[in-house]
Amino acid sequence: MQEIEVVMESSKKIALVAHDNKKADLLAWAKYNRDLLERHTLFATGTTGRVFEMELRLTVNRLMSGPLGGDQQIGAMIAKEELDFLIFFWDPLEPQPHDPDVKALLRMAVVWNIPTACNRASADFMISSPLMDRVYQRLVPDYETYTRRRISLRTEE
Ligand code: PGA
Repeated sequence: MQEIEVVMESSKKIALVAHDNKKADLLAWAKYNRDLLERHTLFATGTTGRVFEMELRLTVNRLMSGPLGGDQQIGAMIAKEELDFLIFFWDPLEPQPHDPDVKALLRMAVVWNIPTACNRASADFMISSPLMDRVYQRLVPDYETYTRRRISLRTEE
């Protein structure tokens, strides 16, 4: 499949999501990186966003709570090229009521080639990358070929 370039500006649009058992971990990471995060535009699922605003006094665009549709909102924003970056500390040891949404969100991040960190070490490497403060041309498959594919409309006789 051919690819197209999607421009990520030097100031990134970052989505932050953490399951309940991982919120403290994400908060500790964000506290350490507060100055770096402040240069970007932040989005978060409802409760994660509330914790960020209370504890870090950072401006966060809050979506719905994850299990109530927030994960799906973030997935849709990725598909519409409204987000550049996903920090998603999901809990590998607890089943979640919205497991299908979690899987769908992670899938969208791969479909649209969004940098994604699911744990603290990955988030550390990503946020300290020199690319964070630069314009970056993200390569995305040209899905026009897919959306224009031929569909057989013949039924079996
Ligand atoms: P929350 O959602 O920030 O509203 O807790 C996180 C999640 O997706 O589970």
